[in-house]
Amino acid sequence: MCGIIGYIGEDDAVDIIVDGLKKLEYRGYDSAGIAIYGRNGFDVVKQKGRLAILEERLAVRLKENKPLAGNLGIGHTRWATHGEPSDINSHPHVGSKNKIAVVHNGIIENYKQLKERLENWGVSFASQTDSEVIAQLAEHYYDGDLIDAVIKVSNAVEGSYALGIMCIDEPDMLVAVKKDNPLIIGISDHGNFIASDVPAVLKHTNKVCYLNDKEIAVLRRGCAANAENVLFFNMDKEPLHKDIETVTWSMDSAEKDGYPHFMLKEIMEQPKVLRDTIQSAVIDGNNKNILEKIDISRFNKIVITACGSAYNAGVTAKYVFEKICRISVEVELASEFRYKDAIINNKTLVILVTQSGETADTIAAMREAKSRGAATLSIVNVVGSTIAKETDFCLFTAAGPEIAVATTKAFSAQLVLLYILAIRFAVRLGKLTVQEEQNYINEIGGLPDKASSILERIGSIQMYASTCVGYKSIFFIGRNIDYAISLEGSLKLKEISYIHSEAYAGGELKHGTISLVEENTLVVALSNCLYLYGKIMSNAEQVISRGAKVLLIGSCPEGKADTMNEKLYHISLPQVTDLFSPSLSVIVLQLFSYYVAANKGLDIDKPRNLAKSVTVE
Ligand code: GLU
Repeated sequence: MCGIIGYIGEDDAVDIIVDGLKKLEYRGYDSAGIAIYGRNGFDVVKQKGRLAILEERLAVRLKENKPLAGNLGIGHTRWATHGEPSDINSHPHVGSKNKIAVVHNGIIENYKQLKERLENWGVSFASQTDSEVIAQLAEHYYDGDLIDAVIKVSNAVEGSYALGIMCIDEPDMLVAVKKDNPLIIGISDHGNFIASDVPAVLKHTNKVCYLNDKEIAVLRRGCAANAENVLFFNMDKEPLHKDIETVTWSMDSAEKDGYPHFMLKEIMEQPKVLRDTIQSAVIDGNNKNILEKIDISRFNKIVITACGSAYNAGVTAKYVFEKICRISVEVELASEFRYKDAIINNKTLVILVTQSGETADTIAAMREAKSRGAATLSIVNVVGSTIAKETDFCLFTAAGPEIAVATTKAFSAQLVLLYILAIRFAVRLGKLTVQEEQNYINEIGGLPDKASSILERIGSIQMYASTCVGYKSIFFIGRNIDYAISLEGSLKLKEISYIHSEAYAGGELKHGTISLVEENTLVVALSNCLYLYGKIMSNAEQVISRGAKVLLIGSCPEGKADTMNEKLYHISLPQVTDLFSPSLSVIVLQLFSYYVAANKGLDIDKPRNLAKSVTVE
């Protein structure tokens, strides 16, 4: 899940690379490193820990009058898969002949065999990583033509990779290649870039090309107007034409805007994100056109597959689809779906939900679905991503770049698109009258304002959360769609506050979990399904009588406003149909987790051991 960046041009590569790594640090932060093509060969500084430590090392070099300098270089921020996070295992890796320097995102699955073979040929390895074999192998194959060497390396390795490669004999060449991990090429008048993600280059250019699997990019110094400076090849070394696309995001999305964390900024952006996403799907956007093209009557089964929060969006959407479309929906974790010999065929619609569009398990699930003849529809945030490109239909969430590792605004956008999809399908299937459809659309149209009204009451959530930092374990319960969204509440809390947490269907508590409830356990109970209000309140009573405290989130039926007491705290939500209530309760759940973590003083945007787009298995 590492982030890679490279630059070749007229300007100082060090500043550009360090700045780009800051935008990529969400992808991994076990270590950071940079290699510059300097006057005396490769100059490498790499270091375990956050990018800030690398910056300190670079500052020391400057103070000692030995600054890293050059205008060709590569950089890396690591999420370790093979080899512990350490200085030596940090990227870039340079081959033992000091000829080739490499940054790698991905996993080389046959690295042990390759390493053994290279060692038999006398090559000695410095690190424990899988990635070092790429540098060593490239040196072994290099025979005066870097592109030939890169093709040979690509043919020899198994697994996934996005690579940035420099060769000491090629002071005017930066080479990139990818398979199953993302890589974009940025093109500008003062130099050219490679990067794992667009925000890393956005400060310099909004002109990008998206590399496909097994495509090679060769970048040279010099002005973008000269086509010779950015060339693309396939694995037979035949030139490829690629369109240059213009990114419409602004840099503002990649800045904190005065908020202490990206996560809080992104939570606060949700009314706008909901509005933009609804607009694109209901009023006049590209999503609306796509929605009109999907003929749900072709299918007799829907499978939603995703990972992490996107999976929780799928579980939540299942309740909506089944309720209003009367069609059965299976929700599968992509990491399970890909290996389970799924019962799907050309009458199945497989919906893939992913923020990055690069989640390795979801890509594999998509390819599995396609190989079995199923139609594929994706809900993706990143334009140009693998899943966006490879699915039959793609709906884009209008969330803009999401930087915090724990998703908030992209989740909300996924959810609202899934609701709209369900409504469109229900209409196609003749399950909704025109009036019912209009009522649902009106309810959805009202969500952004209701989301704003929750954000205006942020203080009470902040205050309550500040009393919750001491809990060792927090349970989330809900019934029906409230259960689905409690899964997301629990995941959010685990991700950023490191407090153990589990989500349970309210009715399931008594079948085991209640044995964990003791004096001063906190149970967060969701109560948006008014017809189940009495049931969830009984569950709340059951845990209160065993010593627990309850945070109740949701609306209560007329005349039943709960009196708050030492054991029960109620955060009320604006009225909305229970089917769409997750869009409101999730905002409270996100803020609750955020403020618990903030009160613990944790690194909220970069929680330990996590990375944002999970591009490895
Ligand atoms: N496998 C490489 C390492 O452990 C890269 C990891 C990644 O891209 O997540 O260094």
